[in-house]
Order: sequence, then structure tokens, then C-alpha cells
Amino acid sequence: MTDLNHLSPNSPILLTASLHVDEARKAIASLVTDLLQESRSMNNASDVESVSLDQAINRILAEDLLSPIDVPAADNSAMDGFAFNGDYLDGSDNIVILKVLGTAYAGNPFIGSIDMGECVKIMTGALMPHGCDTVIPQEFTESVDGSSVGFKKNQVKRGENRRLRSEDLQSGKAAIKAGCLLRPSDLGLAASLGIATLQVHRKLKVAILSSGDELRPLGQALDAGSIYDSNRYSLTGLLNRLNLEIIDCGIVRDDPASLKAAFIDAASKADVLISSGGVSVGEADFTKQIMQELGDVGFWKIAMRPGRPMAFGILKSVNDSGRKALFFGLPGNPVAVMVTFYQFVRSALLQLNGASQTEAPLTQAVAEEAIRKKPGRTEFQRAILGRGADGKPTVKLTGSQGAGILRSMSEANCFVILSHDQGNVAAGDWVDVALFNGLL
Ligand code: AMP
Ligand code: MG
Repeated sequence: MTDLNHLSPNSPILLTASLHVDEARKAIASLVTDLLQESRSMNNASDVESVSLDQAINRILAEDLLSPIDVPAADNSAMDGFAFNGDYLDGSDNIVILKVLGTAYAGNPFIGSIDMGECVKIMTGALMPHGCDTVIPQEFTESVDGSSVGFKKNQVKRGENRRLRSEDLQSGKAAIKAGCLLRPSDLGLAASLGIATLQVHRKLKVAILSSGDELRPLGQALDAGSIYDSNRYSLTGLLNRLNLEIIDCGIVRDDPASLKAAFIDAASKADVLISSGGVSVGEADFTKQIMQELGDVGFWKIAMRPGRPMAFGILKSVNDSGRKALFFGLPGNPVAVMVTFYQFVRSALLQLNGASQTEAPLTQAVAEEAIRKKPGRTEFQRAILGRGADGKPTVKLTGSQGAGILRSMSEANCFVILSHDQGNVAAGDWVDVALFNGLL
């Protein structure tokens, strides 16, 4: 198992320093790898199940999807026009006149074959008639006497406007690779091969809980100093993007016995436990004490903003699926919860569930205004991606960037990610951007 202690603030190395975001990500990925290996060697129960296409969105494909057919199944036309034998084509601007023998429709092919001097009117998707290898698009032809068409020989090259059998997919080859997070296009692709069910990894079970004496459930009046628990709702929304099973463990009070009982309960049911709150300075000692008994958990001070304190590790008890649960103790601040989920939890969940690609895509845009940034920490600022007058992508921050200001997330459509070593950004500089769409 990966030793989390050397990454824990208890260790001498980190007493003064904070953990770089990339180091934290690496430590998480390597622990997930260990956990997967361990659970594979301990238990042979398959974690694969069949689902119909309409249930498969955002699930992770467990085995290569082999195409049972060639796509296209036969040569066909890519254009509306006339199919003929390309022997005539010599690149000259001479005109050739061909007699039209009939029409080939998609789903209703032309029966018969074509000789020199003949052609068939053809629609997009219609099978290429025997003897034809080229299609001249309709717009390059002129009708001659109502029964023939004429066109210049240099207007098409031999073989053009024809889709070849199996040019898209060959029978027996992988149409979609194992580990793919299934998107709408993948479901359409499977359907185009006549495949109605897919083999996917079983849904991960993810338990969530909020910790804090000040938290109240929705529907209850707020007394002095209390606030509504919003983190479970943003976490539920984030998790729902991944089509997994959520186990809601509610609000837990800041008292050791309740927290311990909640963690033990969650660990017995779930593959992953995500809590929020209770890991910041002051409270961490309290959670730490419980975690020492229940698992191997590092309490990290991460060089990032927002989201500095975070706990991560494994819980010792084994759940229903024969696996130890991963534990993420996220900070309590509502924006920090979303940022740490994006940066650490999402990729770990994907990796644990067999995905081959776990990184979210990044792009770049021009900062519309100067952004203050201290080197030595990674920052995730909330922003709106737009387009400048010159057509270049631009980003504008969404007002106040405090870790508790959830409105900054709600109004934003992306993070501007300022890397660890980066300093102040000047207006007009290019910055890294992660779009929320589909992720958060
Ligand atoms: P903590 O990490 O527990 O010190 O919490 C940091 C801040 O986040 C405090 O202002 C908490 O009141 C707030 N907070 C913690 N948990 C939640 C939650 N579930 N929903 C909304 N705010 C929270
Ligand atoms: Mg708290």
C-alpha cells in the first residue's frame, strides 16, 4: 500500500511545507491502483454487468466492444448524383455523356449492372450498382434529352464520392475500447452495430455526509448561528454526472461517537466515502483521532486555493463488495468542496471504476482583466468563458472569490486554473481554463 504518512502533515517534511496539488493527485492515483490490485487478488467476484443502451450513459465500458459487422456493410454513395464506371476519367475538360438506366435509393438498390456509356441516378447511402466505382454529384451534371446526363471529365476523380465497405469499422475490430466513459455518441455507435446491451463496470457506491454542529437540513428553521447544509446537494449533483449509486448519510454532529458510527456504517456499504467539513485546523485533530482507529488516512495541507485542508486514505473495514472504502474528507467551505471534488475526487472515482481516461480536459483563454496570484499554490478562480471582439476566447472572473461564496460557482461556467509557480496575471495573458460543462 502507498504510505500516506509521508504525505501527512505529521511528517517532518510537511510540517512547514504544503503539499503540491500534483503530488496529492499522484498519491491518490497510486493508492487507488493499490486498492484495485488488492481487491482483485482478494475477491474474484465479477464487477461487470450488462446494461441496455438506454441505461448506459456515463457508465464505463468493461470490455472492448467488437463490431459484429463491417460498417458500411457495402460500398455506397456519399452524394446525390450519378454512379458510373470511372474508366473515362482522364482529367481533361472534355464532356462525357452517359445514358441513365434507372435510380438507386438508400434501402432500394438498383438491380442490374452498368456498361460503358451508362450510369445510374443515385441517392446518398444507396448501394453502388455493379460496374460503378465513382459518383458525380448532381450539381456538376446537365440533363441531355431527358434520358442522359453530361459532365466534364475533370469534375470528379475515379473513386470519389463513394464510401467503401468497412472504411468506418471492420468486423471483429474494437469499435469502442474498454475503459471508455460512455457518451451519447458511443450509445449511437453501439446501436449502429445492432448491439442493444453493453458490458459495463458495476456502479460505484458512494456515501456522502456533512459534518458540523451548525448544519441544518432543508425544511428546518434556522436558529442563531446555524446554516443550511448545501454541500450534500452540490456533491449529489456532481456525483450524478457519473451515473453511480449515492448513499446519503445525512448530517453528522461534531461529536466523536456520532462521527465514528457514521464512518463505520458508510464504510460497510460504500466503495467511497466523501465527507465535508471537520478537517480544518482545530477540527482536524478530532477527526484525525477517529481516523487513526478506522483507517490509514493522511491529513493534508494542500497548496491550493480554495481547498487547503483535506483528508484522504482508506478505511480498514471491508464492504459488501470485498473492498476497503476510499475516504475523502473534503473541506467544509462550499466552493472548496466543489474544487477539491473536481481536482481529486472525480478522477479517483473514474479510476476506481475502470475508466482509462480520468483527466478532465483543459483549454486556454485570454484573461480580460489582471488577476492577482501568489506563486506557491494552485488557484481555481471562478470565471465566465466568452469570446472577445477579435474572436479569441476570453475569461472574466465572477466577482468575489471567497471559498464560501457559492454564487461565484453558480454564475461561472469555468475555472481559471493558475498553476503552482505562476505569479500575477496581466490583462491579455493566456490562462488555463477548465469548462464546467459535463463535469461540475
Ligand atoms: P469546516 O471545514 O468544518 O471548518 O467548515 C468551513 C466552513 O464551511 C464553515 O463556515 C462551515 O459552516 C461551512 N460548512 C461546512 N459544512 C457545510 C455544509 N455541509 N454546507 C454548507 N456550509 C458548510
Ligand atoms: Mg465544521
